[in-house]
Amino acid sequence: MKFSLKLFSVFGIPIELHISFLLLILVIYVAAFLGYIPLYLALLITLLFVTVVIHELAHSYVAQKYGVTIDRIVLLPIGGVSAMEEIPKDPNQELKIAIAGPLTNILIAFFCFIALLIIGGTSALSISSLFITYTPTADLTLFLSNFLGVNLVLGVFNLLPAFPMDGGRVLRAYLARKMNYVDATKTAATIGKQFAILMAIAGIFLNFFLILIALFIYMGAEQEYRAILVSSMLEGFYIKDIMTKDVHTLTPDTTVSEALYTMFQQKHMGYPVKDQGNLVGIITFHDISKIPEDERNIPIKDIMTKKLILANPNDPVADTFEKINRKGIGRLPVVENNKLVGIVSKTDIIKTLEMLDAKNKLQR
Ligand SMILES: [Zn+2]
Repeated sequence: MKFSLKLFSVFGIPIELHISFLLLILVIYVAAFLGYIPLYLALLITLLFVTVVIHELAHSYVAQKYGVTIDRIVLLPIGGVSAMEEIPKDPNQELKIAIAGPLTNILIAFFCFIALLIIGGTSALSISSLFITYTPTADLTLFLSNFLGVNLVLGVFNLLPAFPMDGGRVLRAYLARKMNYVDATKTAATIGKQFAILMAIAGIFLNFFLILIALFIYMGAEQEYRAILVSSMLEGFYIKDIMTKDVHTLTPDTTVSEALYTMFQQKHMGYPVKDQGNLVGIITFHDISKIPEDERNIPIKDIMTKKLILANPNDPVADTFEKINRKGIGRLPVVENNKLVGIVSKTDIIKTLEMLDAKNKLQR
């Protein structure tokens, strides 16, 4: 993610701190040192940070067991985000990945409670002490009761059935045993959005952060539902079904202005670049538009993208669409046995979706 700083790695997963979170921590510590807020508040935020890391690592640990690649964990002020390649659609696996986070927090809270029992510090526990009762002289009892509180709150909060929060994912996995995946997601997303509205209303009276979280839940629920709907509509379609087979290519020595002319003539926004039959790059209108008009006599090999992301004719369209969106690219050359056999663009996929949608409406 942009604007984030790598802290360290656990299980080979980089843990990154988003700049907004870094600033928040800095501001809080500076305020604490200047005496504007008590130091315990700064310590509590640090505990929260540790707890969120543990929570995300628990998700990632289980996900890795199912072969999911975790790119990184990014910590934002509203919580952590595990950047996973793709969440498994097997309800059982999803359920275990989703529940691992909150369950770990609840377990930690439980161990803190046991430890407090052993050292005879349970008297420090009361509803208010779960949050903020630190005296500046932090001792073990207070540390344990605060760590317990933070873990309990985070664990229970995430278990709310507000999709796409963990509890909502558990709900979807449960529903997916009784109905198809799209309907299960639709139901979970609808419940998630209702929760978000309630949370936003509560936020007006309680805490501004709740409104922010509600907004993320609402948008997340809608986005994930759409993504699932799209991938189910595209099921059974392969790249070979929708790709453009008659590919126009350019050579590396074509000048930028020649390439631009071809683009206007043929109305394609991107071209694979071939050198003696071999695919060596791709040039897009976007690449060209960055070159000032008086410098467009340079060959396109100087500005083309050489590190290519490719598609195979037998790739499912849904997977390719996900890849295109995730990487933010417009088109992929389609290659089979090291030979360029076609090109597929985001527009091609969206057109396919529009046609499928129109067809569905006609049948209704
Ligand atoms: Zn979680």
